[in-house]
Amino acid sequence: RAKAEGRGRVEVFDTRLRRHARERLRTAAALERALSLGQLRLAFQPIVRLADSAVVGHEALLRWDSPGGVMSAPADFIPVAEESALIVEIGAWTLMQACHETAAGFGLSPDGPVVDVNLSRRQLAQPDLPALVADCLRSSGLPSSRLRLEVKETVLLGAPKTARRNLDDLRAMGVVLVLDDFGTGYSSLRDLPVAAVKIDRSFVGQLGTSPGDTAIVSAIVSLAKALGIDAIAEGVEHESQAALLRELGCTLAQGYLFGAPGTRITSGS
Ligand code: C2E
Ligand code: MG
Ligand code: MG
Ligand code: MG
Repeated sequence: RAKAEGRGRVEVFDTRLRRHARERLRTAAALERALSLGQLRLAFQPIVRLADSAVVGHEALLRWDSPGGVMSAPADFIPVAEESALIVEIGAWTLMQACHETAAGFGLSPDGPVVDVNLSRRQLAQPDLPALVADCLRSSGLPSSRLRLEVKETVLLGAPKTARRNLDDLRAMGVVLVLDDFGTGYSSLRDLPVAAVKIDRSFVGQLGTSPGDTAIVSAIVSLAKALGIDAIAEGVEHESQAALLRELGCTLAQGYLFGAPGTRITSGS
């Protein structure tokens, strides 16, 4: 009996999975049709300077006006497009459209408002992405400095070599890169009952010599303080690092300066 029940459950699960897969296939097919029928459009959301609310640019956000009007939120259809290679085609359309609409609406001056376009993981991995972007800029006349490409942090982490090369090439073309959804990686600090963060020694090693690393350590220490938790610096080898950490307000540290891993626990000096 238990066995039969177990099998039943597996079957229900299997059916649900199949239905889910079928739905995604249907969505992908409808999306492909929408692209070819011109049913996709871009919504432009202003990005303002907070001092005076002046509009400095817009983020281009994909919209799907499906006849049924059910599947129009990007959160629903972008992941489906991302699963199939359809996102590459949609992404190319988005880039081209965003450049042309911005050029048509705001002119070609280098001082004009920027346009932010979101790049998907697959798109970033395409070897011909820089060529595509160059094409969009050339045909629209938009200066490269007015195109900003948004890439999510989660996409950049573990990005393949091609993606990294693309970013360098795009940067060399004068295109501006933006890290999207920055800070989502910190959500564990809010959601988990942790008492401290340990600062990786890759940041501590260049403390004081690398402005970037120093800024990051300083920000981590401030963040920990604001959250009321400890910051523990790892890999402290030099007195200069310890001094700087103290200055930044870091309260705890470990490293060869204070003691290498030993076989016996010794009390502090
Ligand atoms: P949204 O327009 O619903 O888009 C959701 C996400 O879909 C975007 O998050 C982006 O990751 C993806 N997406 C949209 N268009 C494209 C595209 O052309 N290509 C690719 N690859 N992905 C795309 P993202 O980038 O963080 O955008 C900000 C989101 O926040 C947008 O959602 C926007 O409508 C929404 N938003 C802006 N202001 C507000 C607000 O004041 N309140 C709320 N609740 N949402 C806001
Ligand atoms: Mg974005
Ligand atoms: Mg975002
Ligand atoms: Mg560690």
